[in-house]
Amino acid sequence: NYQPVYNVKTGAASGAEALMRWQLPDGSWVRPDLFIAAAEAENMIVPLTQLLIEMVIEDAQHWTLPPGFRLAINVAADHIQHPDFVTDIRQLAAGLAAHQPNLTLELTERSLLSDGEDVIQKLQLLRREGIHIAIDDFGTGHCSLSYLQTFPLDYLKIDRGFVNAIESIDGETPVLDAIIMLSHKLKLKIVAEGVETPVQLQYLKDRGVVFIQGYLYACP
Ligand code: C2E
Ligand code: CA
Ligand code: CA
Repeated sequence: NYQPVYNVKTGAASGAEALMRWQLPDGSWVRPDLFIAAAEAENMIVPLTQLLIEMVIEDAQHWTLPPGFRLAINVAADHIQHPDFVTDIRQLAAGLAAHQPNLTLELTERSLLSDGEDVIQKLQLLRREGIHIAIDDFGTGHCSLSYLQTFPLDYLKIDRGFVNAIESIDGETPVLDAIIMLSHKLKLKIVAEGVETPVQLQYLKDRGVVFIQGYLYACP
């Protein structure tokens, strides 16, 4: 599945995030958070993501995308440590080349925990090739804030838990406000996740958040 991301400045979709799905033979669906966690535990997340990359390239054969359209995929922590990581991402970029894609990798805070130097080098390499890096579920991990200065980042995705806390236009959401201010200071672009109500959208717009993802604009 793909979930569009809305740009409040242009009033149009600026990109989409690929979200993996698994349907059982009986037609029922397995929840992604369950099968992704299981794949991680069983050392299957790398081959699964390689399959996802093939499927995205296949899907893209049927697409016409506006210039600058940004496609994001989720990358698991184990994958970044894997020797195939850079090759896999280059394969995706090459497979989408006809669209001149803007690719974004969504990493969780956990990805940045181990072997920092090696990860920094791989990310810097890919960034030089035009790939952007986003921190997913920001604020829910156990990382120190110091990686915001150390790692080469482009986007910060505010976890929907913080967006959920917005109840009125003039309500108090001190942690969310602090994250938004921090992102502005660090010149990181912000994507707000899980935006479900017009009030949440307005609140985020008022604070200069440009990218909005959630059921209000589009479901995956
Ligand atoms: P995520 O990366 O934070 O993806 C966003 C999740 O929020 C998606 O759940 C999406 O369907 C859901 N969502 C979007 N808008 C709203 C909203 O307005 N309200 C609510 N309540 N939910 C919203 P999904 O697809 O079930 O995926 C869950 C998680 O599974 C993802 O969270 C991600 O961590 C993981 N995942 C999904 N696909 C992949 C993948 O291809 N690779 C990896 N490594 N992880 C994946
Ligand atoms: Ca994500
Ligand atoms: Ca997220």
